[in-house]
Amino acid sequence: MKRANQERDDHNLSNLAANIAMGGKDGSSSLNSSRDRTNSPLNTHSSMTAAQSPTQPNPKPTEDVIYAELYNSILERRLPPETKLGENLLAEHYGVSRTIIRQVLQRLAHDRLVKLEPNRGAFVSSLSLEESKQIYEAWRLTEAAIVRDVTKTITRKQITALKKLVTEERQACEAQDIHRLTRLSAQFHMQLADLCQNKFLGRFLKELVPQTSLAFFYEVKSMPVCTKDEHSEILDYIASGNEEAAVAAAMRHLDGIEKALNARASLKKPTSLIDLLNARIPSIS
Ligand SMILES: [Zn+2]
Repeated sequence: MKRANQERDDHNLSNLAANIAMGGKDGSSSLNSSRDRTNSPLNTHSSMTAAQSPTQPNPKPTEDVIYAELYNSILERRLPPETKLGENLLAEHYGVSRTIIRQVLQRLAHDRLVKLEPNRGAFVSSLSLEESKQIYEAWRLTEAAIVRDVTKTITRKQITALKKLVTEERQACEAQDIHRLTRLSAQFHMQLADLCQNKFLGRFLKELVPQTSLAFFYEVKSMPVCTKDEHSEILDYIASGNEEAAVAAAMRHLDGIEKALNARASLKKPTSLIDLLNARIPSIS
């Protein structure tokens, strides 16, 4: 643990000079903030993308749009743990007041995706290995209950929607778009959570899953979902009403992801601030 803390401190230092990376222009996420805003990050995000066509002047993005961009960027790990989120820089980048940026950062802090430190400012949150393991333990227990619940109640229409999502995941995988794949993978579990009749369980999982993107020790490229197509397997069992097999497949899936936690790969050092700001990857969809 001591060594882990040292490594974390080193990363803190190396990130002090770094700032934000924007991304996720496709933003096709149905993820909602834990505060249950009426506008999901998906809706606000899409509206901004449309508004930014070269033929039209760029209107100032709203608080919801900036929130959605930063939320998705953290979820996709474009903004890695411990990245400093400078108020002035963000205000300048979006052409809005610092008050708006502060409100966005407060919302992200409420989602536990951002931490606000006195005299230091806002940073993308990070999880230690131990905290990550606790997240996966909580996830495993909740996922089992949700998969059982959903297997009993899922409709044909809901299965079709989930199959569409799995297809999108496969496309992201083939395109080697690891950021998009990361978000879509989280979305699969969150969409399942949405179908759960027990709204408390569903809400809990939807708050939990985005936090896996904060795992400091987790190398995103080692996600097993790419090669094994495990979401497809879980979905097939759910669709056929095989509750036990669906739960077993979901548990195998989470075990596999958690194992990757132990294989810590070195985190890429941040590039220059300008590089990060310009690193907006165009949508592949
Ligand atoms: Zn998964």
